[in-house]
Amino acid sequence: MYLPSFQYLAPKDTGELAALLSDHGDNARILSGGTDLLVQLKNSGADLGYVIDISGLEKLSEISYDDTNGLVIGAAAKLDDIMALPVVKEKYFALYQAIETIGARQIRTMGSLGGNICNASPAADTPPALVAFNAEVSIASDAAERQMPLVDFIQGNRKTDLGKGEYLKSITLPVPAKNSGSAYHHFRVRGGMEIAMVAAALSIQLEADNGTVKDAVIALGVVGPAPIKAEDAAKILIGQKPNEELLQSVSQACADISQPIDDFRASAEYRKEILRVLIEEAFDEAYAQVAG
Ligand SMILES: Cc1cc2nc3c(=O)[nH]c(=O)nc-3n(C[C@H](O)[C@H](O)[C@H](O)COP(=O)(O)OP(=O)(O)OC[C@H]3O[C@@H](n4cnc5c(N)ncnc54)[C@H](O)[C@@H]3O)c2cc1C
Repeated sequence: MYLPSFQYLAPKDTGELAALLSDHGDNARILSGGTDLLVQLKNSGADLGYVIDISGLEKLSEISYDDTNGLVIGAAAKLDDIMALPVVKEKYFALYQAIETIGARQIRTMGSLGGNICNASPAADTPPALVAFNAEVSIASDAAERQMPLVDFIQGNRKTDLGKGEYLKSITLPVPAKNSGSAYHHFRVRGGMEIAMVAAALSIQLEADNGTVKDAVIALGVVGPAPIKAEDAAKILIGQKPNEELLQSVSQACADISQPIDDFRASAEYRKEILRVLIEEAFDEAYAQVAG
């Protein structure tokens, strides 16, 4: 397995990146950490003209947080750098958990958040967690910049909304509401070097005084070609004090809309069962963060 030959380009700023994409778009691929791309190029031997390395672009690697704009993560920011920020563990715990589960330290040091998203693998760990925080993405080209919810950006297996000449610039997670908690739970047999079979992420906000659920977002991972935002299931929680029966109907509603595959790793039926367990576990963990 050798890499096919291509011309390596390293733009010095985002203006040059946009110009290169505009010139070579169809015949070029962006390289961020390369932990997905280089493996794929070796396996496929694809005929490719250019690889455009964005890992040196400081502007795309910045991470910032403030109480107005929330958490803004440059697409090329390394997974390990994101995890290391105290605000991520404190306010976006589900994202912290999702990153922590990826590969080993070497992969998290090389791999970027933008790469995990743009690779659009149905088994990727961060997208469900990002959807649970209502993350938005910024997409740029030499002509314009646009924003959209992440849940709409990932359109299917290896399919995103990126058009010709566009690149993912940043990911924004709004400031979490007061009295909120979150969790990401996944199921795999052999730890980080294996992809997840099922995953669920959830963020909830509770009323300050009585533990009633004020708001909830539930995202399902690996049980469809793209992350699924389980809006009807989340509605079941709103205005309610959680109990076992309520959680069972929420997890059943999630299982009902899931579309898992049947393969040698697990049957679709088994994945639905596991999903129900993950939803209830994730809820319990998120609830305990707020209610104690
Ligand atoms: C041993 C191993 C274990 C792994 N374990 C896990 C795991 O447990 N969970 C998991 O989710 N993933 C896992 N991965 C996959 C991979 O490490 C992650 O998806 C990583 O986040 C990819 O980031 P990257 O920067 O390396 O992406 P790259 O390989 O550089 O890019 C991936 C794809 O995204 C495109 N791209 C990258 N950045 C942009 C951008 N800004 N704009 C437009 N397109 C862009 C590239 O062109 C390419 O198509 C593993 C990989 C390996 C090799």
